[in-house]
Amino acid sequence: MKVTFYGVRGSIAAPGRDTVKYGGNTSCLLVEPDDEVVLIFDAGTGIRELGKLLESDSRDIYLLFSHHHWDHIQGLPFFKPIYQQGRTIYLLSNYMDKGSETTVLDQMIDPHFPITGAELLANIEVLPFDERGAVKIGSARVSSIPLNHPGGGSAYHVERANSTLAYITDNELSPPGEVKTSYAEWVEFVRGVDLLIHDAMYLDKELPQIHGWGHSLISQALQLGLDAEVKHMVLFHHDPSRTDLQLDQILADSREWMAQHTENTEVFLAAEGDSYQLTRSKSQIRSK
Ligand SMILES: [Zn+2]
Ligand SMILES: [Zn+2]
Repeated sequence: MKVTFYGVRGSIAAPGRDTVKYGGNTSCLLVEPDDEVVLIFDAGTGIRELGKLLESDSRDIYLLFSHHHWDHIQGLPFFKPIYQQGRTIYLLSNYMDKGSETTVLDQMIDPHFPITGAELLANIEVLPFDERGAVKIGSARVSSIPLNHPGGGSAYHVERANSTLAYITDNELSPPGEVKTSYAEWVEFVRGVDLLIHDAMYLDKELPQIHGWGHSLISQALQLGLDAEVKHMVLFHHDPSRTDLQLDQILADSREWMAQHTENTEVFLAAEGDSYQLTRSKSQIRSK
């Protein structure tokens, strides 16, 4: 199973000289469990670049949404496969009520966009989850549980014969209000995964301003990775104001903290263009 990041920012795209290294596009990642299917998690602005690659590729596309906040859907009108005749694209968003999954296309409407969702040439279908919140896609089994985030959302766990990953963004591990999924449930959901990708938007000192916004502290994400004994973790959904230099420091501090607690969990920071090959038999190979 291979994972490639196309957008790693939270809230809004943040291009510019200070964000070149980690990238300025909002949430989007490509997961290829095998050679047959393409899974895309979230359609932030990063999906535009991915769409160019998939134009000449005939695999079916499964587009899974964590939720429908702007930074997770805004790139969809610029995703070239939606304009390809005969292309099949499945929409999946387990947290939404049945029949509401296509509301992601409602952003394409006058006066906000010149082409409407009804005019797309691709064959766009909704793929439902079963009553346990799971679905089989190609050789992968995808399961989901609710996020702790304003308006709701879904976290995903992807399992193949030889590898597992979890994608959990826009999630507050310790929210002040309603708890949809408890910390103990998160630990169980991600226990031992080969790769955990988790929201790590804020620093401890920022908590008083952001408590209840539906995002986690970097320290909380690291603690989850440690408690769940994940093999590798990628800190994700960087605050748009965070510069490359600040993120370099966050990575160094995070690795130091983890090394003080365990040798078994390796920490990375999400960066556009980075790929991770997941195999249980040996460590992931990271390639640009
Ligand atoms: Zn977000
Ligand atoms: Zn959100």
